[in-house]
Amino acid sequence: MLQIVKSLSIVFIISGFIGGCCYLLNVPFWPVFGLSVLTQFILYDLFSRWRKSKIEVEFRHLENERIKAFSEQGLDVTCPVESCNTVTFVPIIVNYDNEYECPKCNAEIKIYLGTKCFLKTTPVKDDPFDKHNFVTNTDYEQE
Ligand SMILES: [Zn+2]
Repeated sequence: MLQIVKSLSIVFIISGFIGGCCYLLNVPFWPVFGLSVLTQFILYDLFSRWRKSKIEVEFRHLENERIKAFSEQGLDVTCPVESCNTVTFVPIIVNYDNEYECPKCNAEIKIYLGTKCFLKTTPVKDDPFDKHNFVTNTDYEQE
């Protein structure tokens, strides 16, 4: 309520100022005052519409980003119910209890994530038996 009174008084003060300036230039005060109030309301309406649509676009953008992030961090999991075995794509969050409901049998399913470590090896370049003769089991003469 106080906000409305404050906003309206700002509108009236600005309109009064414009009307006063025009009155000094021999233009009648009240028509200019009314027109100024009306113009400010229209401008405010346009501004709030523009801001609202901008916020909406930003929200949609964020939502899309979130969906994209989810699709990058997900797994195709198989329903453990033996008569179902439906494969579903489920978003995975590493530090969170990952649960989902099977879309076919509606079972509540919990996903446990595990990790496995492997030693990184360097693949052998070229064919190591390129210069080897398997018949005599010796290397070919180097040229
Ligand atoms: Zn299922």
